[in-house]
Amino acid sequence: MYETDVVVVGAGASGIGAALTLVDAEQRVVLLEKGEKIGGAGMFGAQGLFAVESKLQKQAGINYSIKDAYQDLVDYAHYRVDLKTVKNIVELSASTIDWLQSHGLETELVNNTQEVHQKNPKTYHQYIDKYAGFSRLIEHFKKHQGILLTEAAGEKILTDDDGKVKGIQILHHGKKEEVLCKAVVVADGGFIGNQQLVREHLKINYENLYSMGERKATGDGLKMLEAIGADTNQVHLFENHAASVVSEHDPKWHNDSIFSLTNIPLLWINAAGKRFTNEDICYDFALWGNVTYKTGGFYYYLLDDELVSYLSTNSLNWTDSFERTFKTLQHKPMTYKVGPFSNLKADLAETIEQGVGWTANSITDLAEKISVSGETLKNTLERYNNLIKRGEDTDFYKSKEFMKFSLEHGPFYAIKARSTSLGTLGGVLVNEDFDVLDRKGTIIKGVFAVGNTASTNMFSDSYPTIEGLSCAFAWNSGRIAGKSAIKFVHKV
Ligand SMILES: Cc1cc2nc3c(=O)[nH]c(=O)nc-3n(C[C@H](O)[C@H](O)[C@H](O)COP(=O)(O)OP(=O)(O)OC[C@H]3O[C@@H](n4cnc5c(N)ncnc54)[C@H](O)[C@@H]3O)c2cc1C
Repeated sequence: MYETDVVVVGAGASGIGAALTLVDAEQRVVLLEKGEKIGGAGMFGAQGLFAVESKLQKQAGINYSIKDAYQDLVDYAHYRVDLKTVKNIVELSASTIDWLQSHGLETELVNNTQEVHQKNPKTYHQYIDKYAGFSRLIEHFKKHQGILLTEAAGEKILTDDDGKVKGIQILHHGKKEEVLCKAVVVADGGFIGNQQLVREHLKINYENLYSMGERKATGDGLKMLEAIGADTNQVHLFENHAASVVSEHDPKWHNDSIFSLTNIPLLWINAAGKRFTNEDICYDFALWGNVTYKTGGFYYYLLDDELVSYLSTNSLNWTDSFERTFKTLQHKPMTYKVGPFSNLKADLAETIEQGVGWTANSITDLAEKISVSGETLKNTLERYNNLIKRGEDTDFYKSKEFMKFSLEHGPFYAIKARSTSLGTLGGVLVNEDFDVLDRKGTIIKGVFAVGNTASTNMFSDSYPTIEGLSCAFAWNSGRIAGKSAIKFVHKV
């Protein structure tokens, strides 16, 4: 049995943010991590975080203020956020860049990784050598007497008869144990790893969601908090992010050509066999994710024989929308070139074998294979081909440069792309100090929640298009909650 001041549940971005703040103020802390390794999605997934008015931005002469960022965020959310929380997060963001660096995780200011945001002010601070950086954060934590327990899942917050926090029950290496403490910070990363909760809150068919998020984030925090009366009846959102072609048979399957073709604005049709967007939305990952979500969670992109032949021997001077993400990380220049895909026929055959591609000699036969009305699909193609001939997308205003390929010659191909999520947002009700609140809005003393488990005040109906915000929220909410927990512990 351990005895400490504060237990932090979850060693991802927000949990580490809280834990380091606490040990720096000489609090005794036990940091619980369910898995064998620390970091969560904040490490294995994320490449960086948003900040404004950082030293790096000032050095680079970036003219974008805290006030500008605040206004952009609250406007994006139509003011359906807690303004004080947004303000606090944005105001703290620059100091968090310095704070991360002083604790061992360095960042560099890079171009926004999405094509459509190249003219926006630079706000994305990319981690440098993130795995080593995260290790250094944990070394700092341990050096300051912090205790890290891995394979230790927080299960239940223990309270006395007056409702005062007295500890937490954990499952440590498969055994139930208790850690006595005065306060708990819940930082377990949301619930994307919990199929039942995802089904409950997802507004699309569960089978259509492809989750890239933290599998160990199974909503333990929400359950623990609900059990002590917290208001968990808040909006639960998904961080929609692009769309992916995912094999029906092998989750690890990847095909470079098919991946690249998913990332360019070809013709897309939804489950009703209709176009539903300007496909060049693929240059903004959040909006691409949102439109896919809105149309029911998946769509097909289409090719015909002529386009397949063309792409097999020619390259397009278009941009693969994900290229910048990888090139930025490697500091390599963009190619602005897609293809040629010399084995495209074989790649398509592989996709069909994986259960996510279909081919047929006629539009009607293809429609039957993907269960859409043949009549509707014929009309969609006829209409699209006419728009291509006119060189103008009067239906969805896709940019003229992408109005290049009509689809007229069989065999035709349809490839299924599914809605992709990086995690959940929303969760439990908290105030601007990240105290957890009950259904009457009263503070549950000594209990704090941060990161994906407590982001209702920051995000409204969808994840904003500014890059790195969810990690910025995680680190900064962790730091704020850490300070709140220090104040609380000093009072009791
Ligand atoms: C592929 C990918 C790329 C991303 N890229 C970016 C990006 O570049 N920029 C950005 O801002 N955001 C990005 N995100 C989102 C970002 O990573 C998350 O929003 C952020 O990590 C959330 O922080 P968190 O602390 O809430 O959760 P996490 O960082 O996921 O940490 C949660 C931790 O809690 C642990 N845990 C769960 N349950 C328990 C329990 N019961 N007891 C103890 N421990 C528990 C988990 O194992 C995990 O280690 C990305 C996400 C993914 C998946």
